[in-house]
Amino acid sequence: MAYEFYEILEVSCEVSAEELKRAYRKKAMEVHPDRHGGDKEKETLFKEVNEAYATLSDPQKRAHYDRFGTNDMGGGGFGGGQGGFHTDMDFSDIFESFFGGGFQGGGTRRKSGGVEGEDIEIRIKLDFAEALSGLKKTVSYNRKVVCTECTGTGAKKGTEPKECTQCHGAGQVRRRTQTIFGVMEQTGICDKCHGTGKIITDKCTKCHGERREIQKTEKEIDIPAGIDDGMTIKVRGEGNDGIESKAGDLYITFSIPDSIDSLTREDTNLFYTIEIDPVEAVLGTKKILKLPVLGERTLEIKAGTQHGEVLKFKWDGVKHISKDQKGDLFITVNIKIPTHLSKRERELYHEIASEKKIEVANEGILSKIF
Ligand SMILES: [Zn+2]
Ligand SMILES: [Zn+2]
Repeated sequence: MAYEFYEILEVSCEVSAEELKRAYRKKAMEVHPDRHGGDKEKETLFKEVNEAYATLSDPQKRAHYDRFGTNDMGGGGFGGGQGGFHTDMDFSDIFESFFGGGFQGGGTRRKSGGVEGEDIEIRIKLDFAEALSGLKKTVSYNRKVVCTECTGTGAKKGTEPKECTQCHGAGQVRRRTQTIFGVMEQTGICDKCHGTGKIITDKCTKCHGERREIQKTEKEIDIPAGIDDGMTIKVRGEGNDGIESKAGDLYITFSIPDSIDSLTREDTNLFYTIEIDPVEAVLGTKKILKLPVLGERTLEIKAGTQHGEVLKFKWDGVKHISKDQKGDLFITVNIKIPTHLSKRERELYHEIASEKKIEVANEGILSKIF
């Protein structure tokens, strides 16, 4: 009795916390009742595995157990029995982390006599402005719909499907698979009847026994303002039809350029760069900018503006897709030094130079032109 908990988890008495956790996960998966169709023996084993882990993963309880060979610490505290154990893990976590949420995988799923419709993923392109404003757009794609001729039985009019000989109508078969965690027994979909439990001998002339047929579908989608490249919208129930079961969902992923005519987007913020004359930077000015998509903006250049200074237009960026909130517009001001001056401009620059006692460089041929 003394070291039974260690035996249940198939670990040594010196097992580390990390190894213990690993052993527990492995064991819990092996004996999980969901994977054995409610097998009573496995259910008991599963409880034992959990009780063993709950005790051994708690240093205090483990010390007590090592010493007395029992997890009963007397009275309160750890009680054993029904609902007495607490672990730091939720079982669904374990299964999700190992199998990505359930055993069914990607294919056709069977639930309560029917076949669930598969999800459909499509990609559509939007232009920069469409993504900013949001819009209603009609997308077209192919989806499987229940055959109108046989109403989803797959059998020719006037005939009936027969019970599957492999699964005897259950739609599911048990099979053993070799995995990295050892041999596991899994209940899977019968490959002969694809989970329907029925075999069709005389196939429907319209869907050829497929029970569903591909139909070109058009759907108007409400695309919210602020949608960004790579984002996906889920449209519930617009995937493939199920058979006596729910339809799959439609997932639309968007491809959107991140810039238009030098206006660049980063999440909900927008960036733009302009060039101004040194005189504008020195004395300050007001500039009317014509920005792509956004339209006109009045820019106040303060006297003494430095090269590379960034002016912010608060909440003038992109609307957040779900929050009532907007990003900002940032305008970088670069100073462009003129390379061609009129004669008068040159004289004025020379005047400034002499005022500031700056010895100007010999301008050679250039100065002789003016
Ligand atoms: Zn079958
Ligand atoms: Zn049909």
